Amino acid sequence: MSKHIKQLKQFVYDNAGNNQHEINEEHLQDCLSSIEHVLRSFFKGRKHSLSPSGTSAEPRKIWHLLNKTQGENRDQFKPTSRIKMLVSSVAEFLIVFLMKEAGVKLHNEQSKIKIKIRNHEMTGSNDYGLNNLMYDFKCTNDEDYRTKWRSASTLAEKDYFSYIGQLGLYDRGVEWSNGCGGWDVYNLNTGDIKHISAKKLDYVMDREIEHLEDKIDEAKKADNWYDLPPCYPTFVNKQGEEQLDWRCARCAFVDTCFPDFKKSKRDLNQVSYIK
Ligand code: SF4
Repeated sequence: MSKHIKQLKQFVYDNAGNNQHEINEEHLQDCLSSIEHVLRSFFKGRKHSLSPSGTSAEPRKIWHLLNKTQGENRDQFKPTSRIKMLVSSVAEFLIVFLMKEAGVKLHNEQSKIKIKIRNHEMTGSNDYGLNNLMYDFKCTNDEDYRTKWRSASTLAEKDYFSYIGQLGLYDRGVEWSNGCGGWDVYNLNTGDIKHISAKKLDYVMDREIEHLEDKIDEAKKADNWYDLPPCYPTFVNKQGEEQLDWRCARCAFVDTCFPDFKKSKRDLNQVSYIK
């Protein structure tokens, strides 16, 4: 078990419920203001742009993002998925608070990222640093915790959201980071937490960032979004109906790309999603 995760678990074991630990006020206020920010953002929505967290976007979506296509302009998640995402965001700040109380020296929480890829400036914010290495926090369900998040190699096999490339961009987008530490992964079903090291993923990381550059080039070459193929093909379900891929069903540009799909059809196809 990674040293900082062990420290967190030992701290909770020793201190929860024993009425002896004195909370650090600064840690508490940081945690509360982060949670307040999450709650306010929940209702605000966000402007869509190509950011390090969207590394998995395909060329057509990148075209929409670069050219600021107008549409419904918000992700099409189910209410239950939105609640799960909200809980995941809050969980991150609670665990960060506990790690800091446990004496883990986290630094540069939510620091601003700025990085140029193919002349396109991406901005965003990272989760935190530890020992001058870049860390990302992920909440997941039990199945993904046991399969995708079993090790660095299983993550590389099942990295549908390009978390590896995303961490590489975070590392390159700030001055303070000397490399990638990895991911602290929290199991929303069991409460377990573990660290997955990014140590052996340099090659995959470089490859994912190069792939993103190629996708941006392809998007920039197209005059319009319909000159690019759909990011994910539709398919025919067991009832013989054409359905959208789940990634299209929840995409902010679905009404532009697939204006003939009825919303009720899309709703059927939306899946749960956790950061
Ligand atoms: S709706 Fe699908 S095809 Fe259109 S931009 Fe979104 S992911 Fe790509």
